[in-house]
Amino acid sequence: MKKDNPLHDSWDREHLWHPYTSTIDPLPTYMVDHADGAVITLSDGTRLIDGMSSWWCVIHGYNNKRLNEAAKRQLERMSHVMFGGLTHEPAIELGKILLGIAPPSMHNIFYADSGSVAVEVAMKMAVQAAVSASGDHNKTNFATIRSGYHGDTWNAMSVCDPVTGMHGAFGPALPVRFFVPQPASRFDGDWNDADIAPVEKLFEEKGNEIAAFILEPVVQGAGGMWFYNPEYLRQLRRLCDKYGILLIFDEIATGFWRTGKCFAWEHAGVEPDIMCIGKGLTAGYLTMSAVLTTKAVADTISRGEAGVMMHGPTFMANPLACAIAVESARMLAEQDMQSRIAEIESILKAELAPAKDMAGVSDVRVLGSIGVVEMKRPVNVGIFQRKCVEKGVWIRPFGRNAYIMPPYIISEEQLRMLCRNMLDILKDERNY
Ligand code: PMP
Repeated sequence: MKKDNPLHDSWDREHLWHPYTSTIDPLPTYMVDHADGAVITLSDGTRLIDGMSSWWCVIHGYNNKRLNEAAKRQLERMSHVMFGGLTHEPAIELGKILLGIAPPSMHNIFYADSGSVAVEVAMKMAVQAAVSASGDHNKTNFATIRSGYHGDTWNAMSVCDPVTGMHGAFGPALPVRFFVPQPASRFDGDWNDADIAPVEKLFEEKGNEIAAFILEPVVQGAGGMWFYNPEYLRQLRRLCDKYGILLIFDEIATGFWRTGKCFAWEHAGVEPDIMCIGKGLTAGYLTMSAVLTTKAVADTISRGEAGVMMHGPTFMANPLACAIAVESARMLAEQDMQSRIAEIESILKAELAPAKDMAGVSDVRVLGSIGVVEMKRPVNVGIFQRKCVEKGVWIRPFGRNAYIMPPYIISEEQLRMLCRNMLDILKDERNY
């Protein structure tokens, strides 16, 4: 049944800030009425097949019965209680599950509020551990690769790519970090030793100032949707060990099977010292993240000057979010996720392959449930999305990348439609 609601709300346009938008000339926003499975329904009844999983997080689809029930059960007990001096079953249960699926050396878990806050916490952990271990108050800086994205808070911004990230807007207000080039060796191509050489040079020159190296393992997400060779991580681990630098994996986007493994470190088989997870953790129901680390790092912090990890947010280990995360993790464990993601990957590969021959396309790449069509020029988001809505799909490109990362419950037919409609739109350069 079609309703009369306008698709675009003028009060919203006038007063509500949407992500990365101008208040003078905002991009259009579409009014959502409800969402089920892999379909978002707009206020006028238009149904959109979701290709974004609401920025990587809605892994089981929208309005999932089991997750709804888990939330309701927990609401009846308590939706929140402070974590200082108190604890609860959902936090413990979730912690046990996470340690069961995380790299084996992970031992201590810090629950935080969002992906960006997890990155802040991980960086604080690294500084506290590095200073405690070395006694050197100058061993507090960070190194990273270019084209990364780690979130929008202050320190997270400082390790985002200096060009495509937000350094331009904040300039000297941001702490200055060490950047090495993005690894050029493709995920499925040959490894080139030249990729790692700048890291060794940097560590030789500045290693005593660097607490940790932070990066997204294998898949760089919002910094450019680039899939690099896992050998880079093996080499990086070796160098971090050689120079006494901690290694932080930001698995916020890659975690919970998005790349075809439960976590992306598994592609390389090397473990980090600190790992951030978020997004898919609560299957898109509530904001929550976690920072995992080794016993060695945790105990080093505890032996340091402060004697404690210096962070403790109000909503730490929110029971409602933990209960939903537990149910989501159980749902993942009950399925053969490796096969499920392999199916999605093979459909994405087959459906997106024709884009290689399209005039405006510079590269097509697929890994796990992520399919990227990189264009030769930036995509105009407003025009592109209007076309998407006309064609009944929901895709939000950024920069030169149009990409799909659907909820894992998407049907084969829906996924094929999503890909075909995206290519149909990209075929005509007036559409973007
Ligand atoms: N790290 C990575 C790799 C991300 O992709 C994101 C979000 N896109 C973040 C951190 C920040 O997460 P949040 O938006 O939940 O703060």
